[in-house]
Amino acid sequence: MANLKIDKSDKIYVAGHNGMVGSALVRGLQKRGYSNLLLRTRKELDLLNQGSVFSFLQKENPRYIFLAAAKVGGINANNTFRGQFIYENLAIETNIIHGAYLAGIKELNFLGSSCIYPRDCEQPMKEEYLLTGPLEPTNEPYAISKIAGIKMCESYNRQYSTHYVSSMPTNLYGPNDNYDLNTSHVLPALISKAHQAKVQEDKQLVVWGSGKPMREFLYVDDAADALIHMMENNLAEGIFNIGTGEEVTIRELAEIVMAVVGFKGEIVFDTNKPDGTPRKLLSVEKLKKLGWQAQTKLKEGIEKSYQDYLENHEN
Ligand code: GDP
Repeated sequence: MANLKIDKSDKIYVAGHNGMVGSALVRGLQKRGYSNLLLRTRKELDLLNQGSVFSFLQKENPRYIFLAAAKVGGINANNTFRGQFIYENLAIETNIIHGAYLAGIKELNFLGSSCIYPRDCEQPMKEEYLLTGPLEPTNEPYAISKIAGIKMCESYNRQYSTHYVSSMPTNLYGPNDNYDLNTSHVLPALISKAHQAKVQEDKQLVVWGSGKPMREFLYVDDAADALIHMMENNLAEGIFNIGTGEEVTIRELAEIVMAVVGFKGEIVFDTNKPDGTPRKLLSVEKLKKLGWQAQTKLKEGIEKSYQDYLENHEN
């Protein structure tokens, strides 16, 4: 347990507040009355620059840090920009986590991803399965960087008595998602493709891979809610999965997206594209025992996301 309860006026730094998770965190914190959020755009603070990050944290000395800044993307981005994914994530993590320690900041929540678990992991994946087998090759550099972050938090807690926790969200989607088809995750990609197909009156929707892999999807405001729940309950160490505990095949996902968008063509599979890991369903028992559960059903979340796409991302 961390020492003191967080006060609504305590300074909370959201690293990566313009990203999908960071912006959901800002919405969630503001909704709950947290009034002292510390936010910096990429232009104002380069998280890859160690000196800038160290002096920023020293000067601002936030009470709590959400480390939601990361280089992220879908299967193609992870597989293509392998060097950038491992370097940028390691740099951001070491700069912020070590900088927090140097500045005497005791509480931090580090965000990772469900791809840290082994490719052929027993399902649903419990936190304790970390490092029990080889990783999925398409996102191994990203996963290694996130495992390093977890181990950094764990090691600093042990050596320096910090309270750095790690959160592993499943595939997230929602407002501020990335709809660039070359770098996006599957859910925003399918929303964009199904919408374009509808507008252009196409007959087909092209889905990558075999359609057989299974994935779990969590609406990003639910993920933010879990992260704030963790802070408010003073969780001080360990790994916590954040998910719904439910999964669908990529084919089923495409069918739901088509129904929401109102595109009636047929699905064709491009098997020249990789499937990635066959399944990655999180065990969400640990956070459930601590009183948190996802609220948004998949179809409802996709409806909200499609609305956001139409309002903010169609072009
Ligand atoms: P992953 O969860 O790390 O594998 O990342 P993605 O969300 O990018 O992909 C999940 C699954 O959806 C993979 O099996 C992809 O091949 C499949 N998929 C189907 N169509 C698409 C698409 O248009 N874009 C992406 N990114 N993935 C797709």
